[in-house]
Amino acid sequence: MEGNFNQTNLSAEQALQRLVAGNERFRNGTTRVSKLTRADLTSLTEGQRPFATILGCSDSRVVPELIFDAGLGELFVVRVAGNVLSPEGAGSLQYAGSHLNTPLFVVLGHEGCGAVSAALATRDQGAEQRSRIQVLVNSILPSLPEFDPQSSLETRLSKAVESNVRWTVQKILDLPEGRMRVAEGRMKIVGAIYDIATGLVRFLDQQR
Ligand SMILES: [Zn+2]
Repeated sequence: MEGNFNQTNLSAEQALQRLVAGNERFRNGTTRVSKLTRADLTSLTEGQRPFATILGCSDSRVVPELIFDAGLGELFVVRVAGNVLSPEGAGSLQYAGSHLNTPLFVVLGHEGCGAVSAALATRDQGAEQRSRIQVLVNSILPSLPEFDPQSSLETRLSKAVESNVRWTVQKILDLPEGRMRVAEGRMKIVGAIYDIATGLVRFLDQQR
């Protein structure tokens, strides 16, 4: 397996550069993750030291390990439709921060997100969702921006996706532990948007 699963203390910036480089390999067809040997698998039994934690969408086209060309043990991933922060998701993030000490947290949204689209349809067209989908949509509704009435549906969805990512980043920063770790310089949290059409991950302005 290419890459060392036992990531020693990378800084948040180094971890971010690793994701950027991995996404570049994914896009230009030079991925490194290859077949695992028995020794690779055995070494994974010693524990996990992922270098980044990702809160992403369940969308089958947005698989973090693939789009960042990362191997087993490299990414700690929470996936839920619309990359919303649930109490259980927050617990998983807290585990990643306090036990695994990943230096970098990424909220990963994507263009054309069906969950965000459903939230827009609910707000702007009064669409009704099935009961538990409505719960999910309710988590996205407060993040939705107002739009220029002239803007196209595509533009609206794109803006809403980014707004939902920024909203979730802020929610994580508002957790007491998130605030403390960021203030201490022990972690960084960034938002990112994956473009299904190009394979590019665009990182949003960083917040410390
Ligand atoms: Zn999605």
